[in-house]
Amino acid sequence: MSEPEASTAMRNADDPFLARLQEAVGRPGPVNVARDPVNQPMIRHWADIIDDANPCYVDPDAAALSVHGGIVAPPTMLDVWDKAGVQMRRDGASPVGAVIDVLDAAGFTSTLATNSDLEMTRYLRPGEVLESVARLESVSPEKHTAIGRGHFVTWRTDYATVEGEHVGSVLFRMLKFAPGTGRVDGPSAAGAHGAGAAPPPDPDPSRRPRPAINADNQFFWDGARAHELRIQECNACGALHFPPSPRCRDCGSFSMGFRVASGRGTLYAWAVPHHPQVNGFRYPVLTGLVELEEGTRLVANLVAMAREHIRIGMPLELCWLDSHPALEPGAIDSRGPITLPQFRPVRPARCESTRSVTELEVGDELALCPIPVSATLIVGGALMTRDYFDVHHDRDLAQRRGSRDIFMNIHTSLGLSQRYLSDCLGPETVFRDIRVRLGVPNHPGDTMTMSGAITALDRATGEISVSFRGTNETGDHVTGTAALVLPGGSEHDAIRAASAAAHAEREARS
Ligand SMILES: [Zn+2]
Repeated sequence: MSEPEASTAMRNADDPFLARLQEAVGRPGPVNVARDPVNQPMIRHWADIIDDANPCYVDPDAAALSVHGGIVAPPTMLDVWDKAGVQMRRDGASPVGAVIDVLDAAGFTSTLATNSDLEMTRYLRPGEVLESVARLESVSPEKHTAIGRGHFVTWRTDYATVEGEHVGSVLFRMLKFAPGTGRVDGPSAAGAHGAGAAPPPDPDPSRRPRPAINADNQFFWDGARAHELRIQECNACGALHFPPSPRCRDCGSFSMGFRVASGRGTLYAWAVPHHPQVNGFRYPVLTGLVELEEGTRLVANLVAMAREHIRIGMPLELCWLDSHPALEPGAIDSRGPITLPQFRPVRPARCESTRSVTELEVGDELALCPIPVSATLIVGGALMTRDYFDVHHDRDLAQRRGSRDIFMNIHTSLGLSQRYLSDCLGPETVFRDIRVRLGVPNHPGDTMTMSGAITALDRATGEISVSFRGTNETGDHVTGTAALVLPGGSEHDAIRAASAAAHAEREARS
C-alpha cells in the first residue's frame, strides 16, 4: 500500500527525528571521483574470487574477438570502482553519509544491504576513470524487521566517465538497525509457527540416530570418516555390492575388499518423508536412491536443492556431513565420530559458446548450480568489492552484532548471480540490468544453489528477461531479475558495432 505524500508530511510534523532523516531526500551529493581507473588487476582478483572464467574479463585475445572488442570489467563491478576503501573516508556534505551519521548516533548502528539494482548503459573498459553522484531517494519510518528495529535508506548513484559519458546507475537500499532488537539471525528467517503448534524438530544433525557399526560395514564407516565413499568389492570375482555383506552374492567368496567410489552418480528414485518428524533433520527432508557411476545404488539425503528441482536422472555429486562428534575419544564403532554421505547437484559446465535467442523459449529453465560458501569466498568477495564492513570478515564482531558468523556481502551475491547467468547462457551475454534482493544470510559452510528461468524474450532484438534465485538450507539468500542481450537479434550486433567504433576512436586518439 503506497502512502499519500500529504500524510507523510503530517506524520513528519509529529516525528521530528523522521523529518530530520528525510530532510535531504532528493538532494544530490558531491561528485565522487574514483581513486583508480578501471583496471585489469582488480578485475582479475574479482574474477578469481567469484570463480568467473568469462574470457571477456581477463583474456585479451578472446575479448578482442568478442562483442565487446576488448577486455571489459564485469558489469556488477560498476559500483566497486568508486568505493572509499578501508579508511571509509566519507564526505560530510554527502546527504547519504549525513543520514547514516544521524542513524548511527541514534543507536541504529548495524547495517544490512537489502537491495541493489544495477543498470548498465555500456560495459566499462580498463583505463576509464569513473565519477559518481549519489542522491538520497528515501528514508523509511521506523520498521520492525526480523533482525531488528530500523530504517531503510535508499539512494541512487549515477556513474559517468570523467569525460561526462553516463555509463550506468545503481539503486541501493540498506537497513540501518539497532543491534539486539530482532528476533532471529537474518532478515527473513522468522519462524512462523502459531500458538499451539508443535515446535519444529531440532535440525542439529548430531541428534540423528547413530548407525549400527559392525564387522561387515566397519570399512564403510571408516571410509566415511576419511571422506571416502567405499563400495564393497569381491576380491575373487570383482563384483560390487551395496549394502555390504560377509559373502559375495555373485560367486560366494568370503574374501571381500572395497573400491573407493568417484562420488559421481545420478538420481534413480526419490522420496520426501513427512511423518514422523524427528530431531536431527531440517524438513522437508529430500531422500534419494543414488546410482553411482560404478553401478551400485545407495540411499542418501539430497541437499542443496529444493523439491521442485528434483529430476530423475539428474547428475549428482557426493558431499559429506560430519554429523556426530565422538561420544568416546578414540572409538571407531557407533560411539566414534560419524560422517554421512549426501548428494547435491553437480555444477554445470560453463557454456563457452553464447546461446542464440533463436534457440530459447520463454519458460526455459537454467541449470541448477550449487555454490559452496566458504569463509574465503565471503572474506575475499567483500575485500575484492572494497567492502570492509566488519560483519563480512570478523567473526567475533559479526557475532557481537547478533549474527551467528560472518556473512556474504551483497556485491558478492551480485557477482555470483552474474557468473551464474553468463555461465548458463554464454560469455557474450550482455547485461543491461541486474536487480537483486537479499533474504537470509549466506554463512560459511552453507551451499547456495542457483536456479533460474527465462521469463520474456524478444527474437527480433535478442533481449531476454530472466528471473533467478540463490537458495541455501534456510531459505532464499538472493532473488533477482536481469535484462540480457543475446546473439541472434539486432541488439547484440548493435553493441558489437558500438564497441568496435569506441575501440577505433581510442586507437585514433592514442
Ligand atoms: Zn564374487
